[in-house]
Amino acid sequence: MKSVDVLVIGAGAAGLAAAVSLKENSIEDVLVVDRQNFAGGILFQCIHSGFGLHRFGEELTGPEYAQRYIDMAECQNVEMLLSSSVVDIVSKDDIKEVIILSQDSGLVKVKVKAIILAMGCRERNRGNINIPGSRPAGIFTAGLAQKLVNIEGYMPGNEFVIVGSGDIGLIMARRLTLEGAKVKAVLEIQPYPGGLDRNIVQCLDDFDIPLYTSHIVTNICGSRRVESVDVSEITDGRLTPKMKISCDTLLLSVGLIPENELSITAGVSLNAATAGPIVSSDYMTNVPGIFACGNVLHVHDLVDYVSDEASACAKAVSMYLANKLPQDKCIPVHSGNMVRYVVPSTVKPQCDAILKLRPVAPMKNVKIKVVSDRGDVLKSKKLIRAIPSEMITVQLNDVPTGCKSITVYFEI
Ligand SMILES: Cc1cc2nc3c(=O)[nH]c(=O)nc-3n(C[C@H](O)[C@H](O)[C@H](O)COP(=O)(O)OP(=O)(O)OC[C@H]3O[C@@H](n4cnc5c(N)ncnc54)[C@H](O)[C@@H]3O)c2cc1C
Repeated sequence: MKSVDVLVIGAGAAGLAAAVSLKENSIEDVLVVDRQNFAGGILFQCIHSGFGLHRFGEELTGPEYAQRYIDMAECQNVEMLLSSSVVDIVSKDDIKEVIILSQDSGLVKVKVKAIILAMGCRERNRGNINIPGSRPAGIFTAGLAQKLVNIEGYMPGNEFVIVGSGDIGLIMARRLTLEGAKVKAVLEIQPYPGGLDRNIVQCLDDFDIPLYTSHIVTNICGSRRVESVDVSEITDGRLTPKMKISCDTLLLSVGLIPENELSITAGVSLNAATAGPIVSSDYMTNVPGIFACGNVLHVHDLVDYVSDEASACAKAVSMYLANKLPQDKCIPVHSGNMVRYVVPSTVKPQCDAILKLRPVAPMKNVKIKVVSDRGDVLKSKKLIRAIPSEMITVQLNDVPTGCKSITVYFEI
């Protein structure tokens, strides 16, 4: 049976950055496995620019950003097994066995010392949000439409309504318009837009595409193909029928779900708020030797942060292999007032930690506070605004010994 020190599952932004960092931290025996026949993950279908400003100080397209890491991985002689799906992880004490179904090699078993989960996420679909109506052709998730247009060269329709104003929906509104389609409306269930400000301006305002906040589709009409959708406004929790929009295609951009079926098989506990693994500040899950980073851990808005997180995770893996990870008892981190989630779920005393969090709703002129169970303020940071689409990071230095828990909250 083949054996490696570290097996990385997924060759997207997270997996590639983790593999490169492992090599930089003198871990030579690394294998990256991906079910696609190319490395780069979701980045390859994101042909718009906006990637790499933090990491490289340049505005790159998704494929350009991915290529930088593919080149680095090649330079470091990272071994990659493509067209190969990891189907099972068997973890017994310190020994882990990973089962891979490979297009070229068939069933492959690999004995590993540590695993980095970097499987990314998948899109929520119609079944996840239960839109009533008939079941005609012409309903796509936004990421699938992006792949059809940017990679396969097919237009999925002519007249679109987009549900969800997250970044993928906004980027697709612009992309489809540039390809000659008519995007009639973007509908958002929340009273505020879901995507980054720059995407609202550059993808909707610049093309006069209307955004209706507090609006949902209440009926999909059409027998063979979508013909129209009925739209209602939400006011004070009640639905008021507003309009019928004729269209031949409905695009759903209604969120991403971390790909964690494999994590569950491996005995990894998940965080209900992120749907990703519960990890400590060194990115280790509850299963010793299994680490997680990137979108499989929590959905990121910027790929640069994915790469940073993956590098930090790889550094922790190298310490784990050298038996140098602090063994202290973990201190739980709780989400307080207006905080939707915090990653990591635990920190370690006398160690540094980067807390990543998102607010429940948009707020202006707030303070983010990190306090211990003894009432000590460990960090306080003023923010002119906090919005759910932008991840907030808080650096904690030297977490004090003796505290039993930490809470992060917004002071309004
Ligand atoms: C439409 C869209 C637009 C975006 N726009 C921007 C932007 O403008 N700027 C920006 O900075 N960021 C943007 N992002 C975010 C950024 O691209 C992602 O956060 C980042 O690429 C995620 O990297 P990842 O490695 O975690 O996941 P992925 O790229 O999804 O990689 C996961 C990999 O794991 C593989 N995999 C999964 N399960 C298995 C298995 N069992 N066995 C083997 N392989 C497996 C998959 O094949 C995939 O290659 C955008 C994202 C999307 C979807």
